[in-house]
Amino acid sequence: MGQVLIAPDSQQGVQERKPAVSNVYKLNSGTLLVYVSQPITDSRGTYLGFISGANYLQKKNMLSALVSNHFHQDDTQVYVVDRNGQMLSHSDTSRVGNKERSAVVKAVVQGNHGAMEVVNSYGVRMLAGYASVPSSGWGVVAQQPKEKTLTALGGLMRQMLMGALPLGLVGLLILWWLANEIVRPLRQLADSAAVIDSTDSVERVQAVRSWYFEAAHIKLALLNGINLIREKINWLNSQAHTDPLTGLLNRRAMEAALVQMSETRRPFAVISMDVDHFKQVNDTFGHDVGDTTLRTLAQLIQLCCRDVDLACREGGEEFTLLLPDTTTADAALVGERLRALVEHTEIETVGHITISLGVASWPHDDEMVVEVMKKADELMYQAKRTGRNRLVASIK
Ligand code: GH3
Ligand code: MG
Ligand code: MG
Repeated sequence: MGQVLIAPDSQQGVQERKPAVSNVYKLNSGTLLVYVSQPITDSRGTYLGFISGANYLQKKNMLSALVSNHFHQDDTQVYVVDRNGQMLSHSDTSRVGNKERSAVVKAVVQGNHGAMEVVNSYGVRMLAGYASVPSSGWGVVAQQPKEKTLTALGGLMRQMLMGALPLGLVGLLILWWLANEIVRPLRQLADSAAVIDSTDSVERVQAVRSWYFEAAHIKLALLNGINLIREKINWLNSQAHTDPLTGLLNRRAMEAALVQMSETRRPFAVISMDVDHFKQVNDTFGHDVGDTTLRTLAQLIQLCCRDVDLACREGGEEFTLLLPDTTTADAALVGERLRALVEHTEIETVGHITISLGVASWPHDDEMVVEVMKKADELMYQAKRTGRNRLVASIK
């Protein structure tokens, strides 16, 4: 009591009148201290003095307790240096008070914080993290052998990988399965589109399980497309087989029917007919009236035959009627009925016309279809020669 403090830091505390942390202070006995002081004021703020404590750095002290408690007891090394790089706390107390010159200390006394790789005094590679304490200018460095850090990290990585692997595999499997499910209807639709002209294309497309909107959309479009194509083909087919003037079958259709019937050995009769003096109709009333007359005659032919019979306009004013499963005699009856109907039908503008007919049948008259057709024509000309408006049949 009553002594005047002479330590420079104590005097600094009196002069500055604010909280202060001293530099490392060495007593004659070799003891290292750091003074920490706090000014005291009365309730009006008048400075009364300061309270100061000394930290004995080489003994168990507040700083070493704080640092060693706070950090793991493993190989992590934590030390504290003051603003001059002098060691304040270290697990190896013999180093306390030493001036440190390592790169990490240089960095931390400049007020920086960060991390770097350093080689410690034993030549071991260390990973160091450092931060400075702004209020005191001290620096705290924590370091651990690089190998140890990385070994732990490697183990962690392996553990993470092993944990993530099954989940990843399951995810991949689900992805693969889902992709397959999405692709399957598209592949099936594409395959169906490639054979769109096959007879079962509609069934093929309909069998595709289009479980999501886009596939269902494509499926519908494909079905519509197939329907359109079929309608078009049917229309073109009928156009290709129809005589445009009368709507009867044309020569192409007749020849196809003949081939089919002969191939399936289906017997048939044929009535060949030609309008008598048709040139006069054209000459007297004009070509248009001639056309109308041909259309009327076509209707009369259809009136006289069954649905299964094939009425054809071979060209000009020559018509042919094919009657499946019919004998020459029965066909002659049909022809005779037609001849009488035509004779007695009043045709607008023209009045009355007559036709001459020849009747033959396959295979009765000849095994060759062409010969049978020729025969019917010959008999029709025979009817012309023998007076017209008559029917000649090949009944022997
Ligand atoms: P025939 O009794 O000997 O058969 O005498 P025809 O005058 O009928 O003689 P032919 O059969 O040789 O004459 C056919 C005529 O039919 C000639 C042609 O002017 C006419 N003709 C052919 N095709 C058509 C057609 O599409 N429309 C019209 N209006 N006339 C046609
Ligand atoms: Mg003719
Ligand atoms: Mg004629």
